[in-house]
Amino acid sequence: MHYTGQIYRPPFEAASLLVQATVGCSHNACTFCTMYHGTKFQTARMEDIEADLREAAAEYPFIQRVFLVNADAFVLSADRLAAIAEKAHEYLPKVKTIGMYASVKNVIGKTDEELAHLHELGIDGLNIGLESGLDEVLAHLNKGFTVEEARTQLARLRKAGINYSLNIMLGAAGSELWEKNAIANARILNETQPSLVFTALLHVDPGAPLLDEVKAGTFREDTLGQYVTEELEMLRGLELEDATFYGLHTSNVIPVQGILPRDKDALVKRLEDGLARIPERYLDSHPEKGYEGISILR
Ligand code: SF4
Repeated sequence: MHYTGQIYRPPFEAASLLVQATVGCSHNACTFCTMYHGTKFQTARMEDIEADLREAAAEYPFIQRVFLVNADAFVLSADRLAAIAEKAHEYLPKVKTIGMYASVKNVIGKTDEELAHLHELGIDGLNIGLESGLDEVLAHLNKGFTVEEARTQLARLRKAGINYSLNIMLGAAGSELWEKNAIANARILNETQPSLVFTALLHVDPGAPLLDEVKAGTFREDTLGQYVTEELEMLRGLELEDATFYGLHTSNVIPVQGILPRDKDALVKRLEDGLARIPERYLDSHPEKGYEGISILR
């Protein structure tokens, strides 16, 4: 298989065949993210993609799901994505769906007809880093799109039949705005009805521009308790018709997972109970973050 640079995939794509369609991130400018710093954005060669599919067909002919990496493979033209999807079906006839990371920006450049065609070719289950439902937060994080653009472009995906999971970054608004962020996050999720909500904590790696603000004290991260309460308030506000709530990122203080709306009360209770059990000195603290943002409690 041809893999270049760091390869990331969502945890719920663990059973998918990872095929590299792009290298790095075409945006590579979010102020909290260093995932692809030092990796030049490139498009993978079609002959390499085909060779990988051929190799996978020999080893894993039963594969039903392909996930294209890297950071925003949906940036590729609709023609290119269609060609990759056709090759995936040719080499792996059991493949049902082909997912990938996508940015809201990547949808803007595709027509409704192109989106519908990609859906017909099995493109489904995009993973999109929405992060927040507040415009000031999206601008501060330099995500490259607005809440209104997210609302419009996600509606276009839905209309084309393409499902998507949305990532919400708890603490993205900082300690002063956690409650406003929780309410706004619930609102945009209700409006856009993702098939899965993936929550993780804000994690500012060394080298990320946001770290300078944290060090200068101009951006204050959530306390441990605020992270949990922000997730709880968002969850209470969710009115999702049929979605997985996936709060199992390694950084999450209290792991929660369930199907909404069925498990909403149980998930709320689990977070409330967890919150009641954590000693106050931890809830009020700003713990050091370790690998992938996991809180280090001393
Ligand atoms: S958060 Fe996603 S879109 Fe933003 S720079 Fe990182 S990989 Fe690229």
